[in-house]
Amino acid sequence: MDVYHRRQQEFLHRLLLLNTHPESHRLAYFLMCSHLLFHQLLILNYQYRCYLQTLHSHWFLQKEIPTQEYWQNLRQTIFSCKMPPWLFVSPHILMWMWFDWCYGKRWDVFYGSPMISHASCIISLRGEKVKISKTRFINYIRCNRYPSLDEIYRDKDKAVVAFTEDPELDELISEENRDKVHTLIQQMYETPEGEDAEEDEEIDLLKKDDPQMETMMSYYRKIEMLSGDIIKKRFHGNVIYSLNTYEQKRFEYENDGFHFYCFLDGYQEDEDTIRIFEVKATTSKKFTALEYKNDEKEKVSVFVPSPDGILMLQEDVFGSINDQYQKKIDKLKQRLSKEGRYVYDISYQRYVLEHALKTKKDIKYYLVVLNADYIHDGQTDNEGEPIYQDDIVTFIDVTSLSEKMMPILDMDIATVNRRLNEMNANPVPLGPHCQRKDTRQCLFYPICYKHIPEYNSIFTYMGSHNGFKDELDNKHDRFDLINEGMVAALDIPRSWIKRENNVIQRDVMETDVPYYHHEKIRAGIKALAYPIYHLDFETFPCPLPRFKGEKPYSQSLFQYSIHIETRPGLCDKDIDHASYIATEHKDLREDLIKNMLEIIKNDGGSILVYNQSFEQTRLKEMAEVFPKYRERLLDMVDRMFDLMYLLRGNQKLFKRLGFEEDEAKKINYYHNKLNGSFSIKKVLPIFSDLTYKGLPIGNGTDALITYARFPKMDEVTFKKNYQDLLEYCKQDTWAMVKILDELRKI
Ligand code: SF4
Repeated sequence: MDVYHRRQQEFLHRLLLLNTHPESHRLAYFLMCSHLLFHQLLILNYQYRCYLQTLHSHWFLQKEIPTQEYWQNLRQTIFSCKMPPWLFVSPHILMWMWFDWCYGKRWDVFYGSPMISHASCIISLRGEKVKISKTRFINYIRCNRYPSLDEIYRDKDKAVVAFTEDPELDELISEENRDKVHTLIQQMYETPEGEDAEEDEEIDLLKKDDPQMETMMSYYRKIEMLSGDIIKKRFHGNVIYSLNTYEQKRFEYENDGFHFYCFLDGYQEDEDTIRIFEVKATTSKKFTALEYKNDEKEKVSVFVPSPDGILMLQEDVFGSINDQYQKKIDKLKQRLSKEGRYVYDISYQRYVLEHALKTKKDIKYYLVVLNADYIHDGQTDNEGEPIYQDDIVTFIDVTSLSEKMMPILDMDIATVNRRLNEMNANPVPLGPHCQRKDTRQCLFYPICYKHIPEYNSIFTYMGSHNGFKDELDNKHDRFDLINEGMVAALDIPRSWIKRENNVIQRDVMETDVPYYHHEKIRAGIKALAYPIYHLDFETFPCPLPRFKGEKPYSQSLFQYSIHIETRPGLCDKDIDHASYIATEHKDLREDLIKNMLEIIKNDGGSILVYNQSFEQTRLKEMAEVFPKYRERLLDMVDRMFDLMYLLRGNQKLFKRLGFEEDEAKKINYYHNKLNGSFSIKKVLPIFSDLTYKGLPIGNGTDALITYARFPKMDEVTFKKNYQDLLEYCKQDTWAMVKILDELRKI
């Protein structure tokens, strides 16, 4: 029985008491009904609904005599309802007088009546209170706990949540329950102390700023509008799209008292068809790269372009396909997979729409994504803004795919309804639904994962996502182990650590003595040719291509830093440093390349980078866009050497240097402070006293945000930020000089 039903039962019980009371009076019922009607009318007022919620927590659940704070709230509510206070107060006084006349001072009867009226209002508000958007639904379906944490996050101590499966009313209102809610609130909000702290000020501990998202927001908006324009040109008819949610086409339907609704990015209707569009700022690559093996054992894409360029499922064009194909379809149906999440989003829209709209027209559903193969031709308008052709976006017809999702949505809607009725805030098993380290990571991650150690947890093992095998060769998923209580790396039985690199990590964790594979590190250093050019690029991953030759999400080069080490250990931080920063948002890539090629001579010296695939890909892209530098740029690619390989190892490199395969694929170095990561930010403090902490620009995200803001900065701010950016990138290459120098000493 859910909490609302339990409350309802109690109120009915009171009603029964009133009815069987020997002094019951027909007029009292009439009055009570009028009072009820009065409240029902007031429900239309939002502020009044808030008042009811306050009342609800004080009178109906906690059975407390209203506190002073309650009366203050009530007074404020009455005033903010923008209705004359007499209208609010007089029916209550009238009723009080009537009851007084009928029953003398029978307070139990007096309170009983208005309570029933108020209660009925609250019950009728039950569905109205919970409106569920697509985003909220996708969060509610994560796990049993999310809805109740969400209620606490929003309503704080007014939240009504349970901590047992089938709680009695007494439990819900118990001191223990309130303490538990309070503990969770403390994990969500902090009250600042000190003289400067303002009254009622609270710091939200969960909400993290996402400056990169803010920076990219204008591009995301542009993608939505571009898509809308292209839909209009392509499909004609009546097309509705807008950046303003409330101007978008909206559908809503009610299920079990809850209201599910959706806003559509694009809605098109003509005489016989309705088309629904969900615009996503991702690229078509996720979908075109999805391949299966056909009966001839050839790899074939799951999606094929129709004659008019729309991506369709193979089965929609050629009929039923083999088991391998079905496996990929199953992947698309998984709401947590990187492709499936988009299919799930539009399937939710479809579910709501088809329960809300009765029509005889055909309804078709499309994902609209950026075309990964689109190459910008460099055309701009009078204001210098890029002009895009219509094939900048790709339409993916997911009508049949989303239809397959409907039974899943049926079950998920029922699950969400149950969760909202139970509102159970107890911890639940952790798992992929938390989307750890994903852009969609759960908001409540810090609460549910607070018992996982920050250092040397089970996640620290490299390749931990592959699980661990016990003595009997049974595989254990890492989340299963966490849910069984094995949260620290050392909780895993030593005999279950089978991967070579994990054994090295385990030894270091147990002994706290760093691991070095001296021979491999020395062999790697010996392979370097001087002068060494320590190189680092900074880029802007723009969703929409800005310059000629770029594709959606091209990593657009805007900065390099180089430190030149002429002989082992001979490099001055300032004298041997060169750099370039594009100070404007116009195409300065050629300038950057020319400048770089003047510094990096054609002398065969190694180009040392950290994580080479990034720099290599940028050089190859530039070689395509600027063919006259092709030879020099590709020569740089050939001379590239990855400093990370000296630490993390690389099978191909070390086999080439003469090591056996088993030896070649092992890591060369491990330190307890690495915590499973070989990022330069983790490595540098181990090898030097340098750190990125405290730098105004301390990571790649800060760097790209600074670059993005250049055009909006005044001169003073620009100069300061330019200098900070210079220092950050310089630190990256200087860090490589220092790390290499330390490795020479081992
Ligand atoms: S972090 Fe995981 S377990 Fe916790 S509420 Fe979110 S999805 Fe549920």
